[in-house]
Amino acid sequence: MTRTIAFIVFLVATVIWFIIRHPARRGAKKAAVKESGRSLREKLLMAISLTGLGLIPLAYVITNLARPRLHFLAFAEYPFQPWAAWLGTLVFAFSLWLFRRTHKDLGRNWSVSLDIRETHKLITEGVYAKVRHPMYSAFWLWAIAQALLLPNWIAGFSGIVGFGTLFFGRVFEEERMMERAFGDEYRDYMRRTWRILPGVF
Ligand code: SAH
Repeated sequence: MTRTIAFIVFLVATVIWFIIRHPARRGAKKAAVKESGRSLREKLLMAISLTGLGLIPLAYVITNLARPRLHFLAFAEYPFQPWAAWLGTLVFAFSLWLFRRTHKDLGRNWSVSLDIRETHKLITEGVYAKVRHPMYSAFWLWAIAQALLLPNWIAGFSGIVGFGTLFFGRVFEEERMMERAFGDEYRDYMRRTWRILPGVF
C-alpha cells in the first residue's frame, strides 16, 4: 500500500457511496413530505459535515495527486503508514456495506435531512433491529477510515470533526421528531435499541 493507492481508495469509496445513494435520492423524491425539520441550524450542520467528510479530503486527495509535496495542506502532513491505510480500507469496505444495508432497509423513508413522509413507516428490522442510527454508524466508520487513509492532520481528521458536529447536533432532534411522529412505538423501539454501537452508545 502506498500513499497514491490510499488516495485512490478514498476516491473509489466516494464514487461507490454516490452509486449507493443515488437510487435513494430518486426514490425519496416520490414520497411526499408531511413534516420537515430542515431548519437553518440543520442546514448549517449538513454543510459542516459535507465539508469535513467530502470537500476537504477530496480537495486534498486531488491536489496531492497532482502536486505531491506542494498541495495546499502540505504543512499538516505526517508520515504515511501502510498498515493504517490497509486498516482504513477495511473500515471503508464495512462502512459502504452498512450504507447499502441502511438504504435498502429504510427505502422511501430515507432522507438526506430530517423529514417525516406522508407514508412514513417506522423501520425496526434488518440493520435497524439493534441500532436505531446505523446510517450514522456508517458515517462514523467513514470518518475513521478517512483518518486512517489520509496522512494529514487536517484532511484526515476533518471528517471526525465535521460529522461529529452534525451527529451530536442532529441525533437528539431526530429522536424527538420520531417520538412526535410515532409516539409509544418509537419509545418502545428506543428502549430495545442502541444509538450507533450495540452495548456502548
Ligand atoms: N438516523 C437514521 C436515519 C438517517 S436518514 C440512521 O442513522 O440510520 C434520516 C431520516 O430517516 C429522517 O428523515 C428520519 O425521519 C428517518 N428515520 C430515522 N430512523 C428511522 C426509522 N427507524 N424508521 C424510519 N425512518 C427513520
